[in-house]
Amino acid sequence: MVEMICIACPVGCHISVTEDLIVSGHKCLRGEEYGVKELTNPTRIVTSTVKIHGADKNRIPVRTESDIPKDLIFKCMEVINKVVLEAPVTMGDIVIENLLDTGVNVITSRSMKKSI
Ligand code: SF4
Repeated sequence: MVEMICIACPVGCHISVTEDLIVSGHKCLRGEEYGVKELTNPTRIVTSTVKIHGADKNRIPVRTESDIPKDLIFKCMEVINKVVLEAPVTMGDIVIENLLDTGVNVITSRSMKKSI
């Protein structure tokens, strides 16, 4: 049996999942889905920052558009850390298309104007 905290919402239920994928301790269906997925195909949305030139700040927040496999996070961070953007950028701009062939794009999490 594996014990974990469900991160599907801020309540943070302590749940248990057996080898047969029977989940207990969850307060809703999302917790059951999270427990099964965490044991069979764990994924995460990745958030980070990248360098930006020509803006008031020198880094801008970015994130994956959706979950990627948890075991690819380290490799993805290596790719994300190489990105340098030029201002201006708009929230939702694609920073990396099809990150490591996951089918998931990395996008900016906010807009940033060009500094004068
Ligand atoms: S089981 Fe449901 S209520 Fe509990 S943390 Fe997960 S999503 Fe939230």
